[in-house]
This record gives sequence, C-alpha cells and structure tokens, in this order.
Amino acid sequence: MRSIKRELETKRDALTSAISSSTRSSREDDHRREVFKDPFGMASITHDDEVVAAVVDTRARQLEEIDRALADIDAGRYGICRECGEEIPKARLKILPFATRCVACQARLEQGLGRAA
Ligand SMILES: [Zn+2]
Repeated sequence: MRSIKRELETKRDALTSAISSSTRSSREDDHRREVFKDPFGMASITHDDEVVAAVVDTRARQLEEIDRALADIDAGRYGICRECGEEIPKARLKILPFATRCVACQARLEQGLGRAA
C-alpha cells in the first residue's frame, strides 16, 4: 500500500510540473501572437492553444483522480468500489492505481454514459 502511495505522489508531481510548463508555454504563445500580427498565422496558433488546453484539461483530470486516490489511502478506503462497496481486485489497481470502481461498476457506468452521449 505504501508503494502505491509513493507511486501516486510521483505521478502527481510529474503531472503538476507538466501542467505548469504547458501553461507557461501557452503564455509564451500569447506573447508571440502580440509580436507577430500575422492574420494567417493566427489560426494555427489558436489551434495549438486548443491542443494545449485539451492536454492541460486531461492532465488536470488525472491530477484530480490521483488526489482523490491519495485522500482515499489516507482515509483507509482505498481500493474499495464507490458503487458497490466491494474490494477492487489488486490486478485492476495495478493497471489503474486510481480506479474508484470495480470492473463491473465501471463498465455499467461507461455504458450509461455511452447511452447519454
Ligand atoms: Zn463495484
């Protein structure tokens, strides 16, 4: 359990620095946009910003999941399915260290989301 926590903390640190460096490079893009007022370059820069925003968004979500998993470890409920209260199999946690649902509940949830979308 201790090694999972350390692994999560390492991931969290990596994500935190990745997010802050992405944010920094996007600010540099803003600066560049002011320097070069090229109307044809705008589209591609905007597109890059969108990609950066999407990457930051994904990382921020992963960061949230890691934070939640770390909180669960501290609260002693790590590895317990949020939906049914069953223990999440160790093999699953090895692949998805911040899984909060067992395979069956996750599949049910994803099916539900699929129908909604
Ligand atoms: Zn479950």
